[in-house]
Amino acid sequence: MIPYGRQFIDKDDIDAVVDVLQSDWLTTGPSVGEFEAALAACVNAKEAVAVSSGTAALHAAMYALKIAPGDEVIVPAMTFAATANCVVYQGATPIFVDVDPETLLIRPEAVEAALTPRTRAVIAVDYSGHPADYDRLRAITAQHGIALVADACHALGGSYKERPVGSLADLSTFSFHPVKHIATGEGGMIVTDDPRLAERMRRFRNHGITTDHRQREKQGSWFYEMVDLGYNYRITDLQCALGLSQLKKLPLFLKQRRNIARAYDEAFAASAHIKPLAVAADVDHAYHLYVIRLQSADLAIDRNGLFGILRQNGIGVNVHYIPVHLHPFYRRQFGTGPGLCPAAETAYGQILSIPMFAAMTAAQTREVIDRLKAAVAENRR
Ligand SMILES: *Cc1c(COP(=O)(O)O)cnc(C)c1O
Repeated sequence: MIPYGRQFIDKDDIDAVVDVLQSDWLTTGPSVGEFEAALAACVNAKEAVAVSSGTAALHAAMYALKIAPGDEVIVPAMTFAATANCVVYQGATPIFVDVDPETLLIRPEAVEAALTPRTRAVIAVDYSGHPADYDRLRAITAQHGIALVADACHALGGSYKERPVGSLADLSTFSFHPVKHIATGEGGMIVTDDPRLAERMRRFRNHGITTDHRQREKQGSWFYEMVDLGYNYRITDLQCALGLSQLKKLPLFLKQRRNIARAYDEAFAASAHIKPLAVAADVDHAYHLYVIRLQSADLAIDRNGLFGILRQNGIGVNVHYIPVHLHPFYRRQFGTGPGLCPAAETAYGQILSIPMFAAMTAAQTREVIDRLKAAVAENRR
């Protein structure tokens, strides 16, 4: 099976992890700060806080902004559930807004229409690796004095009007799950230019305690205080050493992903049935995913049929995502349901993520294209 995504690990990565295993610090050691500094530099941010997952990163961002019960946070309907869950963790209410039908990115007009006196923040999602429209979102959030957060878990290495993803919002979050651009097993990072927000998140990832174990050892002191309720969201040095090693290969990974995307773009350019998402001229797409929409009006199969055929033929396709407001938890807890975000709901019935990962070979790319085209051609009505 050609998976839709997977990690690429080489000897340098393995050596980096083994070195940490033989060192004094398995967690809260020097690799954490090194990984944070390297990622901050990579995305042109002043501060970075590494945590145990992309989800923990989103939770820390909401905590840093003091999102609390009674607050509303605007999120796009077309995203992974964690984007909205982090709002709920803080006892606040996610307000789902619809996406652009061509890009599946959050629509600034929809954000404007959803603002209320309770709105405290907007979380933009760089769906599939395409940066959201940050200038327009920034204009709205600045005018209303609310925070702009980028769930950039799809977009490490992407850029918008020549500015890197990670420098476009008040806080930006990344994930290092194995299907993402760089892998640490589990892992995440929040970047910001605001040292006070960074300080709050460092405390939050360590139970709400003011100093960590290593700082105390350095100061020769046992004293610490828990000043707020935090979590254990720390990341290990093993993971950070792997992340540092992976980050060195990010330019290569991006190049490979963009090459695959170009081959797909060309292959489907003339297809009446296989429609890639639109890409704006002023962005560098990071291609976490390559998403096509199936136009099945004159076909004997719908998206689910195509999904089944491709899976049977060894092509590991996937669907990203079920719109979050349609999940049973949100329907039950927040009374959401069909009709709330029509563009996201329509897209949900048509989208398919086809294989996209740095280690994919030209032959594998060709096979995906051929199988996809054949499945459509063989199912004309
Ligand atoms: C992967 C992902 C997350 C969560 O990251 P984890 O590291 O798996 O917790 C959040 N939001 C989006 C859009 C993602 O793709």
